[in-house]
Amino acid sequence: MRVDNLVIGAGIAGITLARRIAEEKGESVLIVEKRNHIGGYCYDYRSKEGILIHKYGPHIFRTEKADIYHFLSRFTDWYDYQHKVLTYVEGQYYPMPINLDTINQYLNKNFSSEEVLDYFEKVRIPCNSPGNVEEVIESQVGREFYEKFFKKYTEKQWGASPDMLPPEIVARIPIRTNRDDRYFTCKYQGVPADGYTAMMQNMLEHKRISVLLNYNFYEHRDEIEAKNLYCSAPIDEFFEYKFGKLPYRCVSFQFERHDMKYYQPVSVVNYPNEFDYTRITEFKHFTKHTSDTTVIAKEIPSDKGEPSYPIPIKENLELYEQYGELAQERKIHFIGRLGTYRYYSMDQIIENVQTMPM
Ligand code: UDP
Repeated sequence: MRVDNLVIGAGIAGITLARRIAEEKGESVLIVEKRNHIGGYCYDYRSKEGILIHKYGPHIFRTEKADIYHFLSRFTDWYDYQHKVLTYVEGQYYPMPINLDTINQYLNKNFSSEEVLDYFEKVRIPCNSPGNVEEVIESQVGREFYEKFFKKYTEKQWGASPDMLPPEIVARIPIRTNRDDRYFTCKYQGVPADGYTAMMQNMLEHKRISVLLNYNFYEHRDEIEAKNLYCSAPIDEFFEYKFGKLPYRCVSFQFERHDMKYYQPVSVVNYPNEFDYTRITEFKHFTKHTSDTTVIAKEIPSDKGEPSYPIPIKENLELYEQYGELAQERKIHFIGRLGTYRYYSMDQIIENVQTMPM
């Protein structure tokens, strides 16, 4: 089979790119996807109660960029959801990110915003240029808050010590001295009204785009000849691990149905310390679904399974560079979290794909 443009992977990166090729270049594009569904890790479906379930963990769209929001808005309406997260520490729920209420509740104080700044000044461990997760957090809130709210969560999530992990990993989590309890403060925020899968199905509705599901590219490598090849699958796998395996963190989900209206007060509760899971998501909160039963998922990180997060520690990034150079030599374009080995959020993936040279 000969095609102009071949995209490996029907996730948000591959689908955004296919749409761009079809519209901007006016060329045909084939997406091949090894799973039996489109959407990649953003895939969602309705449970028997009609709740939209995010099969691969909670996805909340947010961006500061109007053009990215407007691009997606061509394919979906939005449910105006503002993400709230609680974290469970020593038997109590606390607002996460840490804010004035978290501090006062944990310390059993009644600090004002100014007083909490004085408190941080006393406990913080100063550091001129924090170079890792531990330093970033300790230099803001000191050892105790770091240990209770971040240390073990980060170890569980990444399978690496926080002093090995780069500051960017927690850059998305602010420390607040006000009472704002939103997880994100981006200008545009929400979940697609009818789900991510429906949104992405709409993105694929173009006469120049076709999709093959249940199609593992690596089993058919010699069958497709493509003028341009774009890959959102892990880059090391594409090059048959030529320079060695790139570590990716995997996550598995334990789904449970409960006969109750709500299992927990908000959509996501983090469990930094005890338990092998990092968080529990209760999906009905995303769209305020009203049903007498509820569905939750416990999220368990590990080394085994489908690659999900790149682990951006120095030696991995150096290994990635070798693959990146090979990709340039061979003129193959890598996109998305797994292809570029970057801890991107959805809007960053879209921006990256929309601004890359084609
Ligand atoms: N994090 C933490 N404690 C928390 C929440 C987050 O230590 O209660 C750290 C952890 O290292 C995590 C990172 O902040 O991987 C980013 O968290 P986020 O919720 O954005 O992760 P994602 O949704 O991308 O998995």
